[in-house]
Amino acid sequence: MITKRLPENSEGIAEAARILKAGGIVAIPTETVYGLAADARNVAAVEKVFVAKGRPQDNPLIVHISDIEMLRTVAADIPKEAYRLAERFWPGPLTMVLPRDESIPACVSAGLSTVAVRMPSHEIAHNIIKESGLPLAAPSANVSGSPSPTKATHVLEDLDGKIDAVVMSGDCAVGVESTVVTLCTVPPRLLRPGGVTVDELKEVLPTLAVDPAVLAEPEEGKPVASPGMKYKHYSPKSDVIMVCGEGFADFVNSKPDCGALCFSEEAGDIDCPHVVYGSEKNPETLAEGLFSALREADTLGADTVYAHAPKTDGVGLAVYNRLIRAAGFKVMEL
Ligand code: AMP
Ligand code: MG
Repeated sequence: MITKRLPENSEGIAEAARILKAGGIVAIPTETVYGLAADARNVAAVEKVFVAKGRPQDNPLIVHISDIEMLRTVAADIPKEAYRLAERFWPGPLTMVLPRDESIPACVSAGLSTVAVRMPSHEIAHNIIKESGLPLAAPSANVSGSPSPTKATHVLEDLDGKIDAVVMSGDCAVGVESTVVTLCTVPPRLLRPGGVTVDELKEVLPTLAVDPAVLAEPEEGKPVASPGMKYKHYSPKSDVIMVCGEGFADFVNSKPDCGALCFSEEAGDIDCPHVVYGSEKNPETLAEGLFSALREADTLGADTVYAHAPKTDGVGLAVYNRLIRAAGFKVMEL
């Protein structure tokens, strides 16, 4: 298959919508990461997404909508909290898990009775959904297990020749996937941290609980509320070890033949090959830079890459959550 490169203008949007309506799959930019979109109501199209990514069948997709009317066509028995969250955070990087409407096929949700829904703020994503008139099932547009794509070139590295088209747009502003919260439990529960923070969510959902899988490895054999969280994920080919605490530069300088993923503030003190992923003082920059830096870490030629863990407040929680998975839960304390 030849993967079309579509321009990020009205012709590109129209072509993307045409391909999606015909049951094709298209990588589209969003404010979080690039998504691999398919008509959420078309089982054959949704199956193509799983095949192209090599995604396990038990890992559900997020359905992307352009307006609140569309929400009522994909979810059922929508609680009032959903409308309050929508008012505060949509369009934006928040996904809500709600009871699934029967018009959305079970394969979208990996057989669950729920559906994850998000309204992206990215103008191109919004316009493609609107122009196609379709709710779009879209996981991240990477090969399963590799770091999520924050640039169109990342999508092509992973999926060129496996998908119908990619909209060639700029870098994703948030850089980590959406925050996922389920409204199908009492109390509501954070399943995956992202660009919308726990403190922001608690302003609308004061009783919000945080799933234990957010910060640690899910227990073997136990069902996980958010299936994506059980996989080793976001991982470059090098062996990544997450390192917490002070004195990171001295630590990596004492290790032979390693690489490092570090903060801009400490880069000048590090002797081994290293990639800066953002500023320690500004967790938004760490989120924006993380996945690109993980891909770049593979070009350092090191078998082991030590990655300095961020603090877990604000968006730092989402960065920590992705990094611990990229490290396959291998963590060291300094
Ligand atoms: P991705 O779009 O690749 O970031 O993957 C979407 C993630 O959202 C999945 O890996 C799940 O962890 C989560 N998710 C999607 N649908 C549901 C659902 N119905 N219930 C719980 N978690 C979900
Ligand atoms: Mg993904």
